[in-house]
Amino acid sequence: SEMMLKNSEMLSALGQLAAGIAHEIRNPLTSLKGFLQLMMQEETYKKEYMDVMMSEFNRLELIISELLILAKPEVVKYENKQINLILQDVCTLLHTQAILKNITISTDFEEKLPVVHCIEKDMKQVFINMVKNSIEAMDDPGSILVVSKFDPDTNQVVVQVIDEGKGMPKDRLTRITEPFYTTKEKGTGLGLMVSHKIISNHKGSISYDSEEGKGTTVEIRLPLS
Ligand code: ADP
Ligand code: MG
Repeated sequence: SEMMLKNSEMLSALGQLAAGIAHEIRNPLTSLKGFLQLMMQEETYKKEYMDVMMSEFNRLELIISELLILAKPEVVKYENKQINLILQDVCTLLHTQAILKNITISTDFEEKLPVVHCIEKDMKQVFINMVKNSIEAMDDPGSILVVSKFDPDTNQVVVQVIDEGKGMPKDRLTRITEPFYTTKEKGTGLGLMVSHKIISNHKGSISYDSEEGKGTTVEIRLPLS
């Protein structure tokens, strides 16, 4: 469907994205400038100001690094990779963050999962985004289950991230992949947009099944090469 966009539609989509990016970057910049002006007036260096400024710089850095993923790398490295290994990596990476919230991440991997022709770092980014969202959706102790399996009917590798978090109402589900859509105070609203872009580059799909107060299941489907 992306390929079917008319020129005019593409320009307007680009315009919307540009407006969103400009807005998201201007906010922390305005705040940084304000604090600098304050310090110049007072001619003192206030630790509190520095702290706010540092967190605004961190936010800018996060926004830019997420947007950079959208830019095409010079050398696209598609390789046959074992998704289970990437998933295990991501679970290990996010273990500490989960434990801090009394969340356990468990896995149920299909042992004989076929390899997928993919860009490993992009896949890793997608799985990190999903598991992070699950961790962030859980206010109470609980568990996240990461599943991998092969679907012989469609010849696809299927990855599921199943959480016991707060879930989402139906109308939110239609918005979550919009750039900069977030319900979190410190969210960027870019994780899912970037993830969808990556998965569509790999000719795969992402779907969500969510119930408010119960939890969310994200399912990623990847075709074999
Ligand atoms: P961010 O995490 O920065 O908010 P994302 O694009 O990753 O941006 O997610 C967009 C929004 O989708 C989140 O703010 C949240 O409202 C919703 N969301 C995503 N994953 C989940 C989940 N597992 N459970 C509940 N809500 C979710
Ligand atoms: Mg996110």
